[in-house]
Amino acid sequence: MSKKPIPFGWPYMTGKELYYIAEAHFNGTLSGDGPFTKKCHVWLQERVGCSKALLTHSCTAALEMAAILLDIKPGDEIIMPSFTFVSTANAFVLRGGVPVFVDIREDTLNLNEQLIESAITPRTRAIVPVHYAGVACEMDEIMAIAKRHGLKVVEDAAQGVMASYKGHALGSIGDLGAYSFHQTKNLISGEGGALLVNDPAMAMRAEIIREKGTDRSRFYRNEVDKYTWQEPGSSFLPGELIAAFLWAQLEEAEWITHQRLIAWQRYHDLVKPLEARGILRRPIVPEGCQHNAHMYYVLLEPTSDRHAVLDELNRSDVNAVFHYVPLHSSPAGQRYGRAHGRLPITNSNSERLIRLPLFVGLTEEQQQEVVLVLERTLEKQMTKPIFSRG
Ligand SMILES: *Cc1c(COP(=O)(O)O)cnc(C)c1O
Repeated sequence: MSKKPIPFGWPYMTGKELYYIAEAHFNGTLSGDGPFTKKCHVWLQERVGCSKALLTHSCTAALEMAAILLDIKPGDEIIMPSFTFVSTANAFVLRGGVPVFVDIREDTLNLNEQLIESAITPRTRAIVPVHYAGVACEMDEIMAIAKRHGLKVVEDAAQGVMASYKGHALGSIGDLGAYSFHQTKNLISGEGGALLVNDPAMAMRAEIIREKGTDRSRFYRNEVDKYTWQEPGSSFLPGELIAAFLWAQLEEAEWITHQRLIAWQRYHDLVKPLEARGILRRPIVPEGCQHNAHMYYVLLEPTSDRHAVLDELNRSDVNAVFHYVPLHSSPAGQRYGRAHGRLPITNSNSERLIRLPLFVGLTEEQQQEVVLVLERTLEKQMTKPIFSRG
């Protein structure tokens, strides 16, 4: 019997995406900031509660805008986790900033707020918490630290759309927040993202930076009679086709999140016996954090051979993956950043983490199959004498 392989992810479409794309053409606006972009902005502003939401090409672009908005200068230090995607650091490095990598918490794998203050120097300008797996960082403490030291906070909420911390949407708590609508995230437009501006004082400059450094947005609103070059900027806005696609997703945001949460909880129940046997650890979601089921991961025991486990899963047609290679250990991270201490939790957890397939449309049978294969694989490893491994 041959079963269909279970993919790691699959882009869900609500069914209205292509219809809205046709409508965008009918509207006669294919460049940016047309009717669909406006709808997305209003939805985000209302949903997130930020003073301005601006669609961008990607979360990476939103983070680059944040670095320009904060006037990051060569040598400025930015505190962030090493356990994150490259864009968190790269956006600041492009402006000459120096990422200072701080270790993560054992439970959520988020930036450890207890370690932030000892990493602050006279050159520190900002803290960039990353809400890993859509589970919030300890934002009350992070905001308090930032206030005490006069630092800005940029939330990398790439994975945090539709998730919240003590009732506040992720991305709405820091001075700035960045969302991703990349195909691998919960709500998608292929490539896509948004910058959330929570400090009204930065809203006007954000518009200018996004429109090639001009005040074209004000011109469109008839607030000025011509638009001119105001300051350095770039083209960070997506065209209307992307916004039209995204609008179809935003309309179904609640439903999509709900479906993912159901699948997430199913995994959580299915792997519970494996955790009870001490062969893996499940994700931990602290009280006050409403997550969005962005991903389901398990942490293997330090003695497990993750490489072999992943091999076996993939041979059994279960497409599981791992991440991240910690930034402080990557070639660019070593050249442009610095680690604050030895980052033991980052090093250990990044080597033990496995992400299981999770997408809208994943069936209960497929999830049972995934966990069955995982269990079989881990059991096989346990019975192997240690010297024959690898
Ligand atoms: C996906 C992701 C990004 C980058 O998002 P893009 O939209 O692909 O640029 C940045 N940070 C984190 C934590 C991410 O998961």
